[in-house]
Amino acid sequence: MPVRRLNIMLLCSLLLLLSSCSRQDAAGEQMLRIQSGRNIKLLTTTDTHYLSPRLTDNGPAFSRFLAAGDGKQLAYSSEMLDSLAYDIGIERPAAVIISGDLTNNGEKASHQDLAEHLRTIEQQTGTQIYVIPGNHDVQNPWARRFEGEKQLTVPSVTPKQFRKIYSDFGYAEALLKDNDSMSYLAAPSEDLWLLMLDTSQYSSNKKLGHPQLDGQLTDATLRWIDRCGKLAAEQGAHMVAVMHHSLLDHSDFVQEGFTLNNNGQAAAALIRNGITTVFSGHIHFQDIRSSSGEDIYDIANSALSVYPHQYGILNYTPAAGTLEYHTSGLNVELWAKSAGSTDPDLLHFKAYSEAAFRKLSADRSYARLTGDTSYKSYTEEELAAMADVVGRLNEIYFAGTADQDIAAVTGSEGFRLWQTAPYSGLKSYVLRMSELEPKDNNHFVTKLPQR
Ligand code: FE
Ligand code: MN
Repeated sequence: MPVRRLNIMLLCSLLLLLSSCSRQDAAGEQMLRIQSGRNIKLLTTTDTHYLSPRLTDNGPAFSRFLAAGDGKQLAYSSEMLDSLAYDIGIERPAAVIISGDLTNNGEKASHQDLAEHLRTIEQQTGTQIYVIPGNHDVQNPWARRFEGEKQLTVPSVTPKQFRKIYSDFGYAEALLKDNDSMSYLAAPSEDLWLLMLDTSQYSSNKKLGHPQLDGQLTDATLRWIDRCGKLAAEQGAHMVAVMHHSLLDHSDFVQEGFTLNNNGQAAAALIRNGITTVFSGHIHFQDIRSSSGEDIYDIANSALSVYPHQYGILNYTPAAGTLEYHTSGLNVELWAKSAGSTDPDLLHFKAYSEAAFRKLSADRSYARLTGDTSYKSYTEEELAAMADVVGRLNEIYFAGTADQDIAAVTGSEGFRLWQTAPYSGLKSYVLRMSELEPKDNNHFVTKLPQR
């Protein structure tokens, strides 16, 4: 046999071993899916909030934007995607899901550069990537680049441009597409399908002057879900749903604009079509909830771009009929080391980002306390200790680790000071946060319904 042909054969069998599925070709022909009955690993992540390095000079305007922000590590957008690629190369999931807020504020350049990262990941690891938009991604009037002292408006994308940019990441690979939104049905394997739901509402953004926060599924999309359910039932496939907004309330603090407006209707549509597990994003913190009847679960992944920079690993085991989920930390340190980086923040990314995240809310709290006359009898040290408690509580809230970490905070001197402190909005926040339900938000296992 000619050597070249043998090499090609070897390469093909190696690719099959690595990914156990074959690519879809550029013409958009039906790809060969992973066969029914095979175990599948998926990686699920969200809120990458990628900002193209082309859009910032890391000058004063950008620093101010970060300081006023919510802890996104935007300056390391590209490095975090390289780290994700590195982790995917090790984990070798069959598919990767990104549930919206792909970009910082919908900048066209960010979408284009992110898509290049995703293309490289698919080519190097043989995984299939599926995305949906979040409220920040389409027709966003806040799209900006940062230059010196200034923020300058840059183009965002239309729904049509979004579909085109991400055609290889779901839109050209769909089994079914919804006409009323950018929702689609994808089938990475014969028996596990992904119902990728677009819950964002971007048509009024221009008029509003900001991206609309709340999410909704239209009546037409709800009817389309029934069509997807019918097809899945006919073909004996399980479906999991993916959406940007929350299906269920995840906290006492954030509901309006975060939980889907018509979540009752949406949950009913998903349940009647055999869906018991939903993956969402948007809230940026890690939380797993079930409906009161425990007939559907909403796993809100924390944001990849925000501390603790983690994603979910999902193992589907058809023989047992189970879906197992756990979180895993983005290993920026390992990638940085292998890439030969000398940046200490990247080489110790977890410690760096944790300290930065804690400081962001501690500094804001300290400023509020020193500006509040009812706290004037406290020393600077006491106020700093109290402010640090807020930082630590926010850290636990975002990581979803109240079950393990809350006792260390409520046992601290700073917390004791809060308990006897005069009333303030911040005090009531601290006390409510200290009562976070001590549940495990980082592990989950469910039995899928019979098919
Ligand atoms: Fe987000
Ligand atoms: Mn969002």
